[in-house]
Amino acid sequence: MTEKQIRSSFLNASQRERNNLNLPENFEALNWEDLDFVGWRDRKYQTLGYVIAWVDGATRGILFREVEGKTRSRAQCSWCNDVTLPNDVAYFTAKRSGASGRNGNTVATLMCSRFECPANVRRHEPPAYVGFDATAARAERMAGLQAQVRTFMDKMMLGSD
Ligand SMILES: [Zn+2]
Repeated sequence: MTEKQIRSSFLNASQRERNNLNLPENFEALNWEDLDFVGWRDRKYQTLGYVIAWVDGATRGILFREVEGKTRSRAQCSWCNDVTLPNDVAYFTAKRSGASGRNGNTVATLMCSRFECPANVRRHEPPAYVGFDATAARAERMAGLQAQVRTFMDKMMLGSD
């Protein structure tokens, strides 16, 4: 994955936002193949975050903005929702694609504040009961996360030009 590919993969970022974004600090060392997506917060623009995923063989990126949301006492991440989370959850909005997004329409979600979802679904949980298939459960969580990313992108694209 090159820097150029990343910058050009965003579904909902303006040319200026693409040019201004800062890549993750460990960019060179990232192991892209082993993850459902790569997500990071911009080290310069604190409220911005990015997610890059593979959908139908293509690289697709989402630009997120953290907003002050109505924080519930026990917020859950919508992307890895049934996991006991070790991290904070934040309220994010993503601009919709195309004209709709330029007109200010967004899709909102509660999510792991630093996009820890790929690591969370891969955690090895203690067996829930005798004979519990931990490997299958883990694979299911990974598939579930990938489906969430896809569903979110579909929502963003809805009604776009
Ligand atoms: Zn999560």
